[in-house]
Amino acid sequence: MSDILKPPAHVAIIGLGNMGRPMGACLVRAGFAVTGFDVSADARTAFARDSGASIADDLAAAVRHASAVVTMVPDGKIVRTLVETLQPNLHAGAVIIDMSSSEPMGTRELGAKMIAAGFEFIDAPVSGGVRRAVDGSLSIMAGGESASIDRVEAVLSAMGRTIFRTGPLGSGHAMKALNNYVSGAGLIAACEAINAGAAFGIDASMMVDVLNASTGRNNSTEVKMKQFILSQTWGSGFSIGLMAKDIRTAGDLAETLGVAAPLASQCADLWDEAAARIGGGCDHTEIQRFLEMYGDNDG
Ligand code: NAD
Repeated sequence: MSDILKPPAHVAIIGLGNMGRPMGACLVRAGFAVTGFDVSADARTAFARDSGASIADDLAAAVRHASAVVTMVPDGKIVRTLVETLQPNLHAGAVIIDMSSSEPMGTRELGAKMIAAGFEFIDAPVSGGVRRAVDGSLSIMAGGESASIDRVEAVLSAMGRTIFRTGPLGSGHAMKALNNYVSGAGLIAACEAINAGAAFGIDASMMVDVLNASTGRNNSTEVKMKQFILSQTWGSGFSIGLMAKDIRTAGDLAETLGVAAPLASQCADLWDEAAARIGGGCDHTEIQRFLEMYGDNDG
């Protein structure tokens, strides 16, 4: 049985973007010996400056001494390529923790392959956004062997407040995509309601207060509508392209499993169209701008 990882065990974190940077900083604060890597030199420099962690100039150097490797990159395709690249430099028994929002069927395949090669692999995607990545209070959905999750529980606890064990390999990624479907559908519903109410002459800010005191309340009405949408600051730190990817994953999953989910596929189409029209790099709260121009074929 492999050892339980506790600080100051060596953890590599690959992907130092909006989420990976603050999550890596939490690992440093918890006392882990952290090495970060990102393909972007700017992201590497910012991570070293903000967290005091070591950074590596390439993947091989990042993972060579690591007992656990955290991946926090845009999608499962990138995870697959980078895990195949880093594998020859991993030491036996290392645990790979894919915390990106990856596609669950791909995770099952990749995880099984890595486990057959003598490594451990779990999926542990997160929810809570940049704000909760900064204060280490993310919600984590962990799929995989219980013994592997036990082994890295201290690593996960450094970044998250709630760790749900969702079941076998890939179940964390399935849960994450389904969560984001519910979240993304709720955001569109809230934006459409605010637009219609405003057209009727109801004050938008008051509408948010009414929703939040009533049954229409959801995460978007509570922490996005006034903060990023009515203020037009669009600064949640989660891009529209990443949200579109997650909702498509949820819709595809339902279809693969033969589960009827007509709203999921329409919702995925809308998010894809929004990403194509206003740009996948825009903040996901800018779906409001897209909805305002929806139907305007000249725009
Ligand atoms: P981001 O685009 O801000 O950061 C991704 C980082 O990965 C970038 O710095 C990029 O340079 C790096 N990268 C890409 N390919 C790489 C490779 N091959 N090797 C090393 N680095 C590579 O994205 P993010 O918002 O930090 O999201 C990361 C993951 O977390 C995504 O799967 C996203 O869906 C998920 N997520 C994001 C949020 C959020 O609020 N931003 C919340 C929950 C989950």
